[in-house]
Amino acid sequence: MFKRILIANRGEIAVRILRCCREMEIETVAVYSEADRTALHVQLATQAVCIGPAKAADSYLNAQAILTAALKTGCDAIHPGFGFLSENSEFARLCQECGIVFIGPRPEVIDMMGNKSAARRLMQQHNVPVVPGSSGSLDTAEQAKELADQIGYPVLLKAAAGGGGRGMRRVFTTEELIPNFEAARAEAVACFGDGEMYLEKLVLNPRHVEFQIMADEHGNTVHLGERDCSIQRKNQKLMEESPCKALSPALRKQMGDAAVNAAKAAGYTGAGTVEFVLSPEGEFYFIEMNTRIQVEHPVTEMITGIDLIREQLRVAAHLPLGFTQEEIQFSGHAIECRINAENPAKGFLPCPGKVNFLHLPGGCGVRVDTALYQGYETSPFYDSMVAKIIVHAPNRLQAIRRMRRALEELVIDGIDTGAELAHLILYHPDFMKGNYNTAFIEQNLDQLLSWHEQAKGDDASCTARFNNAVNSSQH
Ligand code: ADP
Ligand code: ADP
Ligand code: MG
Repeated sequence: MFKRILIANRGEIAVRILRCCREMEIETVAVYSEADRTALHVQLATQAVCIGPAKAADSYLNAQAILTAALKTGCDAIHPGFGFLSENSEFARLCQECGIVFIGPRPEVIDMMGNKSAARRLMQQHNVPVVPGSSGSLDTAEQAKELADQIGYPVLLKAAAGGGGRGMRRVFTTEELIPNFEAARAEAVACFGDGEMYLEKLVLNPRHVEFQIMADEHGNTVHLGERDCSIQRKNQKLMEESPCKALSPALRKQMGDAAVNAAKAAGYTGAGTVEFVLSPEGEFYFIEMNTRIQVEHPVTEMITGIDLIREQLRVAAHLPLGFTQEEIQFSGHAIECRINAENPAKGFLPCPGKVNFLHLPGGCGVRVDTALYQGYETSPFYDSMVAKIIVHAPNRLQAIRRMRRALEELVIDGIDTGAELAHLILYHPDFMKGNYNTAFIEQNLDQLLSWHEQAKGDDASCTARFNNAVNSSQH
């Protein structure tokens, strides 16, 4: 096993990885930008190295600074977390050249899956269903229009290098195609420095259902069940749960097998996620594979009892997986709520600020992954996600009730977050029935926000009472 690992990330995921390393008695090196001097991951690591100014491009994306830090501190591996350099094959190659293990799949595999258009082709070759669409990339807007006219509207224009819901446009009529193509391409160039585009048929009202994969270097590839990530805003996930209410055991087996096939087709090693959209008719289609640990991995950890970061480290150290497909046991139901520093009433505008008072939930079946502490000032330079609340319970209804009470206990005073919105979603009749899809927030936001206004004036609301108690104790 590794002696010392550098964690090339920040925030809750850096803390999550640190915790695992400490349990495995591996030393840790944190890296931080000038804006993160007092961050929790810096405080918890065995040692910490400043890698540059606040801007991510100058620090957390600065491969040279990170590798220099790893070499200077004698690290034998680097864990990239998610975001930043986690899907950067060039960085993975540089690690290799420096004799440092990159904790993730091989650079060729990252490349293959990183181009979503190429990944589609590979899946088609291996009989994994993909959404009908372009067979390769589209060079011009006219080409895209021709194909869209042929396969029929609505369609979804997508950036081959895309991620985080960016570089994507829905198009409903032939007139809208060309301007949308140009706009999506411009966004892709701005976000990823790459304007390669492709096109898929827009599946209407689908669920987003993904499978967690683990594969070792000894020929074992397994899946650890699915996550339903349909509660999204701007094509980005807000809440995730497992199991998915819409899967019958037969469909779960079919999709799980397809996910394992996809990973095998790619020659995958380590932790990865195969994402599908599932139509209301029960047809599923591959959309992409993420070659890294994912934000919502704790949901899977809760229902399988498997520490996915630990497994990532074991696979990277050439050890076999500690379990076979048959040995993975699924128990109960888990839900995650991402808590972002943002204002849902203002189009989910990010709202960084200082945390004046913090109370995190706890108790039976509640896990909180966060790097927040009281007095911490969230930075406008990075992602707005500040915490993840995860609950586990014997069944879905109990998990919903547990999440409601966990969110009622949560107090983050000083910054706006989406916690109240998440709390209200947990009372929505369609959510409670498990009858929802990726359009849920778009279709219900106004209603949810009006409930929010009502709840603010409602003294009986548990959150309001809790907040009042906290405020009066402070003054
Ligand atoms: P996921 O399914 O894990 O959400 P996405 O492709 O939507 O996958 O995005 C990756 C995640 O990585 C985002 O949700 C976000 O929280 C995180 N992320 C993206 N960019 C950054 C960044 N610059 N810093 C930290 N985290 C980031
Ligand atoms: P990213 O790389 O940004 O995560 P994805 O390809 O995973 O992009 O798509 C992000 C989200 O967009 C999905 O979770 C889903 O909600 C929606 N989406 C993607 N492809 C389709 C499609 N063909 N039809 C309908 N919705 C889609
Ligand atoms: Mg995705």
